[in-house]
Amino acid sequence: QTLNPYYQGIAEEVSYDTIYNRLQTFENFGNKGLSSQGLKNTAKWIIYFYTNLGFTDIKVDTFIYSGNQLYNIIITKIGTEYPNKYFIIDGHYDAANCPGTDDNGSGTVIVMEVARLLKDINTKYSIKFIHFTGEESGFIGSHYYVNNTVIPQNMDILLLLNVDMVGGTAGMTNDIIKCERDEAGQSQNNATSYAYTDTLATLTSLYSSMQTEISNAYGSDYMPFEQNGEIITGYYEYNENPYNHTSGDILIHMDPLSVKELTKAATGATLYFSQAFNASIINKDNIKNTHIQLFPNPSNNVLYINSDKNIYFTLTNLIGEKIIDSIYVRKGQQTINIKSISSGSYFYMFTNEDNKFEGSGKLLIK
Ligand SMILES: [Zn+2]
Repeated sequence: QTLNPYYQGIAEEVSYDTIYNRLQTFENFGNKGLSSQGLKNTAKWIIYFYTNLGFTDIKVDTFIYSGNQLYNIIITKIGTEYPNKYFIIDGHYDAANCPGTDDNGSGTVIVMEVARLLKDINTKYSIKFIHFTGEESGFIGSHYYVNNTVIPQNMDILLLLNVDMVGGTAGMTNDIIKCERDEAGQSQNNATSYAYTDTLATLTSLYSSMQTEISNAYGSDYMPFEQNGEIITGYYEYNENPYNHTSGDILIHMDPLSVKELTKAATGATLYFSQAFNASIINKDNIKNTHIQLFPNPSNNVLYINSDKNIYFTLTNLIGEKIIDSIYVRKGQQTINIKSISSGSYFYMFTNEDNKFEGSGKLLIK
């Protein structure tokens, strides 16, 4: 894999404040044990989040376990080329009778933010964003989903990425994340999991500042999938939080900055695995580097680009086809002839000599 500047531009939209505030909200719901009101309120909050964003395929799988009514929340986004093949990113939102801000508010907010960023992006594979319940009671929710949906529907799963407890430990340097591969259980699905996990590690270092360590998958919601022969991978924190499963599993004992960083990684990975191809989320002028100017916009015959460094300019149409592919723009003011390009809406993107994203926006050609 090489860095895709378009994916990077989307991953860079992850903001620390958003992640921090969402973790705080999650924490404020209090204990999230199976019979708690906190668990129900968290479910409502998650459902409202997706409804409010405009997702239309939101399924609340309701079932009874041990006298408690429980909810798996499944959001589906349909792919353009392989609508019946799913990339799944999941995280459980229940906790072990505590707030569970790290285990697993961290995974919960990551799944939410990846979904928000990908909502208007076209992907070739379908994506399911799943918030499981009952993980801490023995993968109750994921078992239920595999037995009642995956198996009866013979669901075709490309890969499941499980995000569970990734917020690290306050006061430590949390710049390493474990990428988990399937080393046990069914053996016929291990090799593919190894390959995907290597890819996940590469993508993680491309789209975030996190370093990676390969580890084994165990003890989380991917296990019922693994037992069904599916291909799994996962993220798990390197510095294990000492407050895990206690009332001390709260924001001040973890590292929200590492959650923000890992959200970028998960965004890049989801874009890559689902084969995202449309730049439609970039619907406004959002050049990050104010030292690059492009004008006039709208334009007809010629474009001017002012830049204080050497850059590359790429222009794509609305379905992601490259009209101008990475032409070199020397620093200073340069002109680009666009006379031969038919009128319509386009996306432009600037990258630097290290192939890093510098900015992007919409261009109207008259
Ligand atoms: Zn967990």
